[in-house]
Amino acid sequence: MVGAWLLLWGALALSCRGEVAFLRHADDSTGRCTYSFTVPSPVESGCPDAGGVPELRAELAALTARLSRLESRERGAGGEAGRGIPQPQYAAPAPRLEPGCGELLRANSRLEEEKGRLERENEELGRRLESSAQEIARLRAARCPPGGEGPGRDPLPAPGEAPHWDPQPLTYQELQSERTEIPASRLLEETALGRPGSQNSGCGELVWVGDPVVFGRAESIAGKYGVWMKDPEPLPPFTRETTWRVDAVGTEVRQLLQYQAPEQLAQGYPTKVHILPRPLESTGAVVYRGGFFFQPRRSRTVARYDLRGETLTAQREIPGAGYHGQYPYSWGGYTDIDLAVDETGLWVIYSTEKARGAIVLSKLDPETLEIRQSWETNIRKRGVANAFVICGTLYTVSSYSSPNATINFAYDTATGTSRALSVPFENRFRYLSMLDYNPAEQQLYAWDSSNMVTYPIRLSRD
Ligand code: CA
Repeated sequence: MVGAWLLLWGALALSCRGEVAFLRHADDSTGRCTYSFTVPSPVESGCPDAGGVPELRAELAALTARLSRLESRERGAGGEAGRGIPQPQYAAPAPRLEPGCGELLRANSRLEEEKGRLERENEELGRRLESSAQEIARLRAARCPPGGEGPGRDPLPAPGEAPHWDPQPLTYQELQSERTEIPASRLLEETALGRPGSQNSGCGELVWVGDPVVFGRAESIAGKYGVWMKDPEPLPPFTRETTWRVDAVGTEVRQLLQYQAPEQLAQGYPTKVHILPRPLESTGAVVYRGGFFFQPRRSRTVARYDLRGETLTAQREIPGAGYHGQYPYSWGGYTDIDLAVDETGLWVIYSTEKARGAIVLSKLDPETLEIRQSWETNIRKRGVANAFVICGTLYTVSSYSSPNATINFAYDTATGTSRALSVPFENRFRYLSMLDYNPAEQQLYAWDSSNMVTYPIRLSRD
């Protein structure tokens, strides 16, 4: 039967080439049916090869080989079901298999596309899961802050028991601070928002604090703690480059050093030395709109020293504010009353017996020092190392000595709510005694173990 098909294919092939073939069949001497066909040669009159035309032989050989391959492929496609079952002796023509292969290839391509889509969906779900986990961790941290006691308030005094506190020397406070300091939270990698050192525009949430930049170093032990800053809204003859400094160690801190620019500070040549009418106690002093604002020693008062007139132009008591070691930051140093400046004005950060050690934040009139508005937070003042205000939001630092500290809490005065943060903050010299924000330069000013440093920051876009 295969032979018959070979002959038919051969005849068909020759017909396609424009040649005429004659097919005959007859019984041979043994009774079997034999097929034969005849093709006239276009060029040869004789028949030199008794076996037939070589070209036709080659054609037939090729056809035989092709049929053999097709039969093999068809048997292979038949699989297990085809075994043991007599197969037809002829093979299916190649065109019947080739479309099947094409469909398989197309189906494979569709599966690849589907696989890619599912992988992309999987990646997206992974990102959303990670984001949700971080949100949950943040909410948990807000409810149960690090350190056990967290930012909660000091315990209530027993009924009838008068709250009391004992002023202590600086050395005692420093030792005490070692005990009360809250360990730094786990660090998070810097976010990918913006580039370091880039200028921010407008208000936003603090998302990054860069490495400290050293501008100068105090020459004596009196400068282990201190204050330095520029006025973000200076009044003539002062400029935004005019730099101010107070070395804050000692009981009679009265010298306010004025420098024409930070370069003079670095060289140690002040333009002028102001003598304050009252000694300064806290390292929370600031300069704003031509005034030097500070807490006079052993008082719950805030005073304004006019930098041009060189006199005190306003003094006002902060009602109930702790002072002289009652509610300091974790490092001690009589940092009970801390002043701050942001884009919106002048602030004072402190605590009261009524607030039981929680940070109270008040907005002050910069001329009269009257309290315009107050907010009572749930952040324990002794539990944090320092604080500053940006765009009406109070930020706190977890540690004054750890090189891997964090900005760990934020209290938003617009909403009256606080939340936990974990923005890395480096205490390079391991003793942060002052930290404030300059809204004109949008960077932090700090005093770290005799070193005057700044930190670039980055705010998120609103
Ligand atoms: Ca501060």
